[in-house]
Amino acid sequence: MDRRKFIKHVSLASMAATATSSLKAFGTDLSPFDQSPLPYDFKGLEPIIDAQTMEIHYSKHAAAYSTNLKDAAKAENVASGTSMEKLLGSITRYSTKMRNNGGGHYNHELFWKCMKPGATTIPSGKLFEAIQKDLGSFESLKTTFSDAAKSRFGSGWAWLYLDNNKKLQIGSTPNQDNPLMDVSDIKGFPLLGLDVWEHAYYLKYQNRRPEYIENWWKLVNWEFVENRYQSAL
Ligand code: MN
Repeated sequence: MDRRKFIKHVSLASMAATATSSLKAFGTDLSPFDQSPLPYDFKGLEPIIDAQTMEIHYSKHAAAYSTNLKDAAKAENVASGTSMEKLLGSITRYSTKMRNNGGGHYNHELFWKCMKPGATTIPSGKLFEAIQKDLGSFESLKTTFSDAAKSRFGSGWAWLYLDNNKKLQIGSTPNQDNPLMDVSDIKGFPLLGLDVWEHAYYLKYQNRRPEYIENWWKLVNWEFVENRYQSAL
């Protein structure tokens, strides 16, 4: 393969890897239970999310979910190639360890991709139209989502998700649950998630969760969310 063809091949392969949730990165042999590389460096989201928080969050907290998920999968005879969506959709069949760590792994893999250094983009295209139709406006999406994130007691996540009637919805889940889980009160396909565990913001924001939430909007990668929305329709 000449150099040009090789570059084209690599770039197509990496696009394909990004487009699927299989997390199979080019040149590696990642299972859906492995962490994919962080799409930016630890400093990438500064000053909103400081490098130390990112490093601990990705390489300690999220890494532990992946490791513990793999342990649980082994103990409960789940093949390593099993899709995360499928596993979470029938999570009641498995242990609490699988629920907490499977959710933790999936949620964080999604969370990293939902953010982008210097983002400050807004929704566009079909997603923008759906936001207006289902949620009233982008402003009301932000208000409702922020309220869900602020009022989640203890640890959990806020979500923008597509319900089973393909309508956009906003809600929150406790701990590491998410809308894919058959145990969840809210059900559907998560498009955008915000981690409101204290480990996600405490070093910089301490008790000021609302300030973390407010600043976080500036990092949202709406292009990613829109692609995810289109792929789920
Ligand atoms: Mn987290």
